[in-house]
Amino acid sequence: MIIIFKTDVGPDGEEITRIKEFLENFPGVNLKLVEFEGETRTVREMHLIGPTHNIPEEVVGAMKGVEKVVRVSTKYRQIGRHDVNFVPVGFEYNGIKFDQDGLQVFAGPCAVDTPENVEATFKFLQSIGLTTARMGAYKPRTSPYDFQGHGRECLPWVFELAGKYGIKAIAMEVLREQHIDEIQEELEKAGKPTGVVLQIGTRNAQNFELLKQVGMQQEMPVLYKRGMGLTIEESLNACEYIASGGNRNIIFCLRGVKSQMGAPHRNLVDFAHVPVIQRLTRLPVCIDPSHSVGSKDYAPNGLMDIFHVAAQGVIAGANMILVECHPEPESAWCDGHQSLTFKELEQFMQDVEIVQEAFRKRVEVFSQGLVKEMTGE
Ligand code: PEP
Ligand code: MN
Repeated sequence: MIIIFKTDVGPDGEEITRIKEFLENFPGVNLKLVEFEGETRTVREMHLIGPTHNIPEEVVGAMKGVEKVVRVSTKYRQIGRHDVNFVPVGFEYNGIKFDQDGLQVFAGPCAVDTPENVEATFKFLQSIGLTTARMGAYKPRTSPYDFQGHGRECLPWVFELAGKYGIKAIAMEVLREQHIDEIQEELEKAGKPTGVVLQIGTRNAQNFELLKQVGMQQEMPVLYKRGMGLTIEESLNACEYIASGGNRNIIFCLRGVKSQMGAPHRNLVDFAHVPVIQRLTRLPVCIDPSHSVGSKDYAPNGLMDIFHVAAQGVIAGANMILVECHPEPESAWCDGHQSLTFKELEQFMQDVEIVQEAFRKRVEVFSQGLVKEMTGE
């Protein structure tokens, strides 16, 4: 059960004290006060966990300071929408907005390799107006004999170079708790010239201890990548682990699922789930066309499959794209076969813009009519 308070109720308000006293009549029920910083208002909620079935909804709903009582299905307690429309969706980090309306593109190499390549990438991103990048320092590779990433050692120069070219956030995967600390410490030491979005890779999608750890730090947002063999429900439950640690700044990333049915693509593209995640949760939704497709093959119409699948996500309203590019894909230390060249990235951005425009038109033409039909007005 979630109790949503009216705007004028403060964190130590007597209204909250009264409700707490009332709830003492229901043993075993644990309370947690939660606050969402929205654009127009701060929403204060009380989350009740445990045997809440005996708590009379009408009585609590009529108490002073209460705006609404929502009986949540136990699912997605923290990240779910629960049919409440005014709850804030999204967040801001380092001046970048993540919500269910915008679209951010995080481009860059799969892994940090040489300082020259990293600098060339940031410089290029800046030249096309991007302030968001991707690149891994810790890489979970399928083979132990492949490059595992430079680890902590590269962080000082990566952060410094990012700052030099105005990059505000880098999506960077972490594989264990220690990596979160290392990133935090190195950002601090460098004087925070940039920011980091902590990425949970598909291989760690149900590493609950790691999920709790990224959730317990509140500074950096978390980009959660759907488990390659997990259902949407299982992956969203994993996001609940992050959120229940205290960090609700989560972006949900679709990156394809493992299935022979997807071949010859690396994964079966699942971008049809963009609107599903948006409907079920408050989370912005990211798509990763690079790991979904896994190659740079072209359709006879002259567009790369990577472009086509990204378009499928954007036309459905995706809010972030994670895409691999490299100054010299053929010499990249990781995933060069699916990395765009800079020129291709420029074309990719142009295509994204075309599709985004089409998406906006679709919403403009249809959303009004559909809402009317739904409400019978
Ligand atoms: C990545 O984005 O660097 C990555 C390894 O992706 P995934 O976890 O989706 O395989
Ligand atoms: Mn990769």
